[in-house]
Amino acid sequence: MSEPSTIPHQTRALAELLNLPRFGRGWVWLAGAGPGDPGLITVLGAHAIQQAEVILYDALIDQALLKLARPGAELIFAGKRAGVKSCRQSDISRTLVSLAKKGKRVLRLKGGDPFVFGRGAEEALSLVRAGVPFRIVPGVTAGIGGLAYAGIPATHRDTNHAVTFVTGHGVDGQIPDLDWSAVAKGSPTLVLYMARKTAGAIAERLIAAGRAADEPAAIVSDASGAAQAVIETTLEKLGEAATGTAPAIIVIGENVRLRAGLDWLGAMTGRMLEPWPLGRETISDAG
Ligand code: SAH
Repeated sequence: MSEPSTIPHQTRALAELLNLPRFGRGWVWLAGAGPGDPGLITVLGAHAIQQAEVILYDALIDQALLKLARPGAELIFAGKRAGVKSCRQSDISRTLVSLAKKGKRVLRLKGGDPFVFGRGAEEALSLVRAGVPFRIVPGVTAGIGGLAYAGIPATHRDTNHAVTFVTGHGVDGQIPDLDWSAVAKGSPTLVLYMARKTAGAIAERLIAAGRAADEPAAIVSDASGAAQAVIETTLEKLGEAATGTAPAIIVIGENVRLRAGLDWLGAMTGRMLEPWPLGRETISDAG
């Protein structure tokens, strides 16, 4: 079957040049849209939107991306936001299965990366159980790409040789049942998803396990979107700084200090960047 004629010719050329896969009938693609800036979707993700007949999309995706959809494509909001009554996970999985069984090309479009705190695996496993073929299209996760938009590198050899991704949202929205002392000692940088409400409790546990109370931390909300805001604080003050409702990534660690030199977005509106945000005596300056 030929490609739908509504796909712009440039995009078709891109799909051909890169030999992108065709979206088969009766397939589900689970794709990540990136954290906010629609430009952060992957080429494969954009290709998926253009080919899909039905798109079930999340609350956190930029609606501009849906303009790439074919005319007549069915767009279904299947969002979830903390505290807001929204679609049940089982309903979403059931809908994916039933649309695929009708022979539709079904796109499940999620914020960030579908396999990072995104329940992508749950949805994919329900497809496996129903015998529905699927593809995973990874995306830029908020805890990496969102931090980059705040000028905070996820790793840097002067500050952290490791990074840990943690959800702040355990069963019933409480602080997750983790060995927090091990988390505190495990890596110099911690990146917390869904942690606004539990940030204070998490900070307390980290300090009790030996992390410095004045360790730098940042809260990056609406990362990479038009309303991006960054609050720099310390571990001790994290709980009070984390109030607010916009989706936020929290990062704890010395790498936060690099923002003084790397806030490239701020530089566009006049911020002077500090060429030596960690001082001059650093490993990376030595070569
Ligand atoms: N799969 C997504 C994460 C979904 S969980 C990903 O890979 O990014 C939802 C959480 O992700 C939010 O509570 C928040 O902690 C984080 N998040 C997603 N988009 C964000 C954004 N634009 N800015 C800040 N945090 C974001």
